[in-house]
Amino acid sequence: MYNIFIIYTGGTIGMVKDAKTGTFVPFDFQLIEKNLPDLSRLEYQVTVHSFTPIIDSSNMRPSIWIEMAQIIRDNYERYDGFVILHGSDTMAFSASILSFLLEGLQKPVILSGSQLPIGEIRTDARENLMTALEIASAKKDDRSIIQEVCILFDNKLFRGNRSFKYNSDKFEAFRSPNYPVLAEAGIHIRYNHDVLLDNTNKEFIYHDKIDNRVGVLKLFPGISIETIRAVLDSPVRSIVMETFGSGNTMTDSWFLNALQQTIQSGKNILDISQCKVGSVELGRYETSNELKSIGVLNGYDMTFETAVTKLMYLQGELADQEQVAYWIQQNIRGELTSYD
Ligand code: ASP
Repeated sequence: MYNIFIIYTGGTIGMVKDAKTGTFVPFDFQLIEKNLPDLSRLEYQVTVHSFTPIIDSSNMRPSIWIEMAQIIRDNYERYDGFVILHGSDTMAFSASILSFLLEGLQKPVILSGSQLPIGEIRTDARENLMTALEIASAKKDDRSIIQEVCILFDNKLFRGNRSFKYNSDKFEAFRSPNYPVLAEAGIHIRYNHDVLLDNTNKEFIYHDKIDNRVGVLKLFPGISIETIRAVLDSPVRSIVMETFGSGNTMTDSWFLNALQQTIQSGKNILDISQCKVGSVELGRYETSNELKSIGVLNGYDMTFETAVTKLMYLQGELADQEQVAYWIQQNIRGELTSYD
């Protein structure tokens, strides 16, 4: 019999309406058990670990990411797969950082949640949780089919570090336009075997350091030098710069000089696009050519969530800024497609 470990962190899936205020507030796992009697009918053994406190995922933070990774490390040998119940708001950040902290995973780590609480009649929670459990226990030739961190939502399985929350209204809350869907659940669960990570011969290595000194500069026409300076001069080691189209920016010399000075002072600036589909291509247009020569780093097709969490992970592991600059541009967990 397979053993699956559920980590319950909170999120809408287990929320109830506060009688006084009418707002959704997190509730304990018993609510989920009560609304999902099928949990006791499964062909595999399920063990539940609830976080204290149970949170809305908008309150997610690095210390909880480390705790989640630690729990998986401590239980890694004893369980066949892991399901993390998590609010959808920051699920893509958690999935991304876990993909970096848990290197060489040979077992599934599936994050899921729901758009409607489990107690609501039209809830999507039952389907999401049952499908996540099914995938967490799926094996072929005695090996887990999924050997990576994923998000399961609305019958689709996505690579965690390729996904983002795309819709706060529909059951289809997530998308990963720069990478194919890993599996789709209908009558059968159909795996897209060609695009799955295969870590069979890799060693499982757990990492536990995060350095959150990361800033974000989102460009827009008319942005002032004061706003730009506030980000560039902030006490961070790296800045994610969200640019236009395929990585383009304004070409004003005051702007390029400010970037160059920042890079020369030892900070990394990573170029990712505000577009959700496609890749940064430094040098494709005149408006990104100069960026390359002053040392702006190429974020290729990484999501914003991955760019931020990968920098936190690399900075935790590496004291040398040049090493961080090198590795942020490499594909280390299936999170980017490089065209070089
Ligand atoms: N605010 C909730 C959360 O992220 C939303 C959800 O679970 O879908 O915890």
